Amino acid sequence: MPSKLPLQIVTLMQEAVMLCCSGNNDIQRKTILGESMHSVIPPRTTPLVMDTPIILPALLLCDFGHLADEIKKLEEAGAKALHLDIMDGQFVPQLTYGKVIVEAVRRTATVPIEVHMMVEDQDKTAIDYANIGADIVTVHIEGLTRPEDTLATIASTGIRAHLAISPNTPVSDVEPLLSHCDGVLVMSVEPGFGGQVFQPSAIEKIRRLHELRTSHGQDFYIGVDGGISTKTIASVSQAGACLLYTSDAADDS
Ligand code: ZN
Repeated sequence: MPSKLPLQIVTLMQEAVMLCCSGNNDIQRKTILGESMHSVIPPRTTPLVMDTPIILPALLLCDFGHLADEIKKLEEAGAKALHLDIMDGQFVPQLTYGKVIVEAVRRTATVPIEVHMMVEDQDKTAIDYANIGADIVTVHIEGLTRPEDTLATIASTGIRAHLAISPNTPVSDVEPLLSHCDGVLVMSVEPGFGGQVFQPSAIEKIRRLHELRTSHGQDFYIGVDGGISTKTIASVSQAGACLLYTSDAADDS
């Protein structure tokens, strides 16, 4: 069955542009990823420019038998970056894919890619994804034993190191680490389970992170993953999120 993702990207991008035009988001235009930052990125990769909330399609439900076609369709639909969910069946119940697929996406995609790690031993394996061409590596605070070291290791490769927090993890758990990361991803659904609805508690977390960013004069980006649709995009964007992740599972009905 053809993926609905390209259509969702078009719809959500239109919403994002409208939100920006109506002054509901304080995003400043700037390039957050460029060719020069990463030696592995093919020269044809386009920089990621932040000028509206960015909609990142999660490739979880793509047709992996036609991966190159799926990526092309998403890029033609306007996707500025791709989001890859790595699940190992242990840190979360679901099992998806690993480095082989990420490498295949890297060879095909002309936009930056983010790897969202939902696996055991993230301290050890995060560097592997940086080395095969991810532009953002997002690790879960709940899966790290040495968060500062791991974030520093990712950042040492010249890419962005982001931290993710699950719905039951309070913002206070990542507060001491905000100066060590380039972004925080708020999970608005439980990681590793399909068919969930958006948890409104995520909005309060985004708002709190936005307050902390402002009060400490920091520069990290706030993302939100799970259940992003035309119903939820305005509230998360107004709360301060600028990286918004969507998949075929997003329910607009
Ligand atoms: Zn994700």
